[in-house]
Amino acid sequence: LKVGVIREVDPDEEKIAIVPSGCKDLMKQGIQVYVQSGAGEKGQFFDSMYESNGAIVLSSAQQVLDTVDILVKIRAPAFHPDLGQHEVDRMSNKTLISFLGPRTEEGKTLMARAVEHQVNLLAVDAIPRISRAQSLDVLSSQAKVAGYRAVIQAAYQLQKFCNGEITSAGSFEPSKFLVVGAGVAGLAAISTASNLGAHVRAFDTRLETKEQVESLGGHFLVLDFGNESGGDAAGYAKVMSDAFYEKEMALFLQQAKEVDVIITTAAIPGRPAPVLIQAEHVNAMKPGGVIVDLAGGNCALTRPKQTYVHNGITIIGSDMTNQAMNWQASTMYSNNIVNLFGMLCKDRQLNWNANDPVIRGMTCVWNGDILFPPPESMTA
Ligand code: NAD
Repeated sequence: LKVGVIREVDPDEEKIAIVPSGCKDLMKQGIQVYVQSGAGEKGQFFDSMYESNGAIVLSSAQQVLDTVDILVKIRAPAFHPDLGQHEVDRMSNKTLISFLGPRTEEGKTLMARAVEHQVNLLAVDAIPRISRAQSLDVLSSQAKVAGYRAVIQAAYQLQKFCNGEITSAGSFEPSKFLVVGAGVAGLAAISTASNLGAHVRAFDTRLETKEQVESLGGHFLVLDFGNESGGDAAGYAKVMSDAFYEKEMALFLQQAKEVDVIITTAAIPGRPAPVLIQAEHVNAMKPGGVIVDLAGGNCALTRPKQTYVHNGITIIGSDMTNQAMNWQASTMYSNNIVNLFGMLCKDRQLNWNANDPVIRGMTCVWNGDILFPPPESMTA
């Protein structure tokens, strides 16, 4: 089985889908990796490293695409200037694995395009979030890095120690962090900030996260709101009532007056991120405060991908895509992909098993048919 990796065309994407050590791991499964020369350079993964791990380096994206059976990417396929055409159009009778956003309009357009060109599409962002698929869960691995990184970004902007200090030049209290949303990214942020010595408090609509927050050294804030549960039957966050959001924002207004840093990660699958930090919250913070908006919309004043200062508060518009820590994020993504091939292959051949809920769940297009979303019986 021949698997390829090419340079990502999106200038904002600096990671690579398979790192050199992943090529060696895949060889053990009977998979030969072909890499476009220079594709991993931004993550410090050089051609010589790929070659010494058994990969074959080819000089162009065209050569890779013409050679392989399966292409693995990070970003959804797009028009590729070197190819002079859309990546999907160049992949007839091959398989593409990447983020695809199958629930979005763009994702639906891609699926139609793949049908037209006889391309199989597997979406890494549709891998079911079940225990058996944890080792392939790119959403979790990338969120883990993003949560860690958010704390480092905040600490870099913060004009004081995170930890408490008693020195001959004065004693200083630990900084106070509020983490909104205790999913994978939020828990990573709580753990990192606690390890830096900050005092961390956190809030999530899903009460089951309380124990996880506390096990990482955080203090879980409780909102007195009857029995309204923040999780749906599958354990995912749901949209809350207006009255709930009102109370939640009142809680955050109180918190904003006390904390030095707010990291927001609150998201609801398939919905825009709820706006929970309004201008009045930002204005209530002490000068020198920092907000990192990882959900890309939890703070009303966030400017996407920008860092700027509003009334003495630094607001960092971030997201889960980790355009820093490329080595770490690429290595974790690549490990997820290696584990995915462990499920996708049998006897050294591609074995697309429609009865496997993980494989079926991530399949968008197969043999000319749009198969997303999967039937409900496969998602239970
Ligand atoms: P996410 O990025 O979709 O959301 C982040 C967090 O924001 C969630 O914990 C959510 O409850 C919270 N949130 C939503 N609205 C909020 C609000 N108004 N105020 C405060 N918090 C709010 O979450 P995620 O990290 O991708 O995890 C989503 C789900 O998937 C969770 O149930 C998690 O346990 C589950 N999960 C399962 C696996 C697995 O078993 N393979 C792996 C990872 C995550």
